[in-house]
Amino acid sequence: MRKPEKHLVDWLRNAYAMEKQAETMLTAQVSRLENYPDVRARMEQHLQETLEQQALLESCLTRLGTGPSLIKGMTGEIVAFGQAVGEMTMSDEVVKGAMTGFVFEHTEIAAYTAPIAAAHAAGDDETRRICEQILPREVEMGRWLLEHLPDTVAAYVSRSAEGRDDAKR
Ligand code: MG
Ligand code: FE
Repeated sequence: MRKPEKHLVDWLRNAYAMEKQAETMLTAQVSRLENYPDVRARMEQHLQETLEQQALLESCLTRLGTGPSLIKGMTGEIVAFGQAVGEMTMSDEVVKGAMTGFVFEHTEIAAYTAPIAAAHAAGDDETRRICEQILPREVEMGRWLLEHLPDTVAAYVSRSAEGRDDAKR
């Protein structure tokens, strides 16, 4: 038998671990992108949102009498995926980065949907409110990446065809 609060803490920590990885990925992408200003600006905006989300999750965990712990949870694999993106120097990194970002945002959507339901079960209205405030930011970032992917690909393909060295990032 486990109290609902224990599960809630586990899933909040899982979300926190994702946000730390999001910070690493977005920081790397923002620092590397030079020739895709729209993508870069949107990632910069989401990096700020990510830092705010980390602070909000910390406040939830503190209120529950605990704190973050950077455990490897079900997100371990996607985290490894994200690390690869952060370090990548492939010839089409702007495109791969946008595709990976889309997947990552959807993993975050699941990572907030679970604690929203768990907070409901535990009767923790404040944690539920905070996670419900964060969730639409992840939905919006995923939507933006997908909506702009065709333009990103088109710009990349055309620059690549001209043999431009600045195509990839
Ligand atoms: Mg996030
Ligand atoms: Fe996100």
